[in-house]
Amino acid sequence: MRYLILSDIHANLDALDTVLVHASGAWDRVLVLGDLVGYGAEPNEVMDRIHELKPAAVIRGNHDKAACGIDDGSQFNHVARVAAEWTGGQLTEANGDYLRNLPMGPVQIDSLLEICHGAPFDEDEYIFDGADARHALQSATRPLCLFGHTHLPVIFRVLGDAFEGAPPDPDVETALPIEPDAQYLVNVGSVGQPRDGDPRAGYGILDIDARELRLRRVVYPVESAQRKILAAGLPTSLANRLALGR
Ligand code: ZN
Repeated sequence: MRYLILSDIHANLDALDTVLVHASGAWDRVLVLGDLVGYGAEPNEVMDRIHELKPAAVIRGNHDKAACGIDDGSQFNHVARVAAEWTGGQLTEANGDYLRNLPMGPVQIDSLLEICHGAPFDEDEYIFDGADARHALQSATRPLCLFGHTHLPVIFRVLGDAFEGAPPDPDVETALPIEPDAQYLVNVGSVGQPRDGDPRAGYGILDIDARELRLRRVVYPVESAQRKILAAGLPTSLANRLALGR
């Protein structure tokens, strides 16, 4: 089984469709790690595309909760709240219902893998540094836990007393072997709003049988996504940040 790992798409259809072409033929089932919507201008289009893919699992993110009314967005900054309110007004009734019924993470996929949006102990918690990761790994129940939420690709690994954590090399496609006795906490990056200074869309391919996780980046038409954000009347900063990858 090969999983296509999609996280933090954020209503960016240009990025999602580019990833789907780039990943074509490399996967069997899809896993979505939350934040399908919010920030971007095509929430219904992204959700319709995700439905077409018939994902093996989809979990909710904080922006999904805010857009569909589960959460009031009071923890959001002004721009995020404006985007959440705009998104809520755009969602079809069916897509709003879909978001309201998404499970929270973590969700255990098989004996190797679990997925969460923020952290395995709290879907809204951010994992930035080694201390966050060590804490999170204590509540992980599988050798490999994939997370999103920060929009920053990173690989944390524990093997015995050894702990390491670092972002993947952005210049090459990273192929991470999942070693038998190690435990991993990995963010494959954000499809629709990268924040590591690299504007390319990020995603992952996990081959369960080969025990290998690939972290990939692909250039997508940022200007197209920006034009749609501006045409929708969403905050200009949301268009600008896509070109910066911030
Ligand atoms: Zn997000």
